[in-house]
Amino acid sequence: MQKAEYLGNRRFEIGVGHMAQPAPDEVTLRVAYVGLCGTDLHIYHGKMDHRVHPPGIIGHEMSGTVAVLGESVKGFAVGDNVVVRPLDYCGSCPACTAGHSHVCHRLKFMGVDSTGALQSYWTVKARSLHRLPDNVDLKRGALVEPLAVACHDVARSRLRAGERAVVLGGGPIGQLIALVGKALGAHVLVSEPHALRRTYAADAGIEVFDPTGANLAEHVEAWTGSKGADVVFEVAGVPQTVQMMTKIAAVRGRICMVAIHSSQPPVDLFRFFWRELELLGARVYQAEDFDRAIELIASGQIPVDPLITSVRPLADVQRAFEMLDTGQAGMKTLLECRA
Ligand SMILES: [Zn+2]
Ligand SMILES: [Zn+2]
Repeated sequence: MQKAEYLGNRRFEIGVGHMAQPAPDEVTLRVAYVGLCGTDLHIYHGKMDHRVHPPGIIGHEMSGTVAVLGESVKGFAVGDNVVVRPLDYCGSCPACTAGHSHVCHRLKFMGVDSTGALQSYWTVKARSLHRLPDNVDLKRGALVEPLAVACHDVARSRLRAGERAVVLGGGPIGQLIALVGKALGAHVLVSEPHALRRTYAADAGIEVFDPTGANLAEHVEAWTGSKGADVVFEVAGVPQTVQMMTKIAAVRGRICMVAIHSSQPPVDLFRFFWRELELLGARVYQAEDFDRAIELIASGQIPVDPLITSVRPLADVQRAFEMLDTGQAGMKTLLECRA
């Protein structure tokens, strides 16, 4: 079997791996497609070597088929098409005990803190599986994980039909948040400086705004009849959008923090007092977010096909990362792991 190993320092190598036998509570999957995302790019840049410990196999947005079942696994059969919710939680810490295992104090993110999916076969705990219905093919299945992120963000924001939401940042997650918001009947505006990303969003029927040299706050003021946005999603992760998020939120508006900020940018706390704002953190997803994501794709409410801008064989992993790094990859690149 094939594996793509991250060696550190922006390098991948294709090697021959061995297929692990599943423990009683595990399954071995034949991996079909693996999507690449910003986290993977961060790893490629060497920023997460302390978690990945290269050489290692990364990849966490995947679809595949059950190949071998551990002896105590119930509810799945060989040949089932599935996706993996790549969270390995302890089950006993205060977060897990309170029902929030997705933010377990000892959470291991599979594909970062432990072996990931960029290989022909991947052995995982059966509790992490979600079955794909027949009308969601494996290519679309690889989009379930990022769509589950968006479902979690929208759920955390309590966005409702008829409300107005602004998404700061129109990458794949920002765009999926907009689509999930739209599917539930909200009005969503995406602010994104890159023309190509705006085009993808506009093609998906999303309202877009180019903040380059323009005043987003004024635009939102007009767009909301001077009320401000009911919900703001901060997805860009730069100090400018952190400044903007408090400017454009309505009285009692909810700001959902989706981006991963490694620095500590200034936040206008006065606006939180003045407009009684609420700040909500949103990290990864819960099982119900995966179920919702699968349902949104299966029902056709969210067409994910246009987001898949290229599909390459696993052997092209190095080139795929180089294109992602230079912004030539479009929205979502999938690597096909079946030989
Ligand atoms: Zn990802
Ligand atoms: Zn825990």
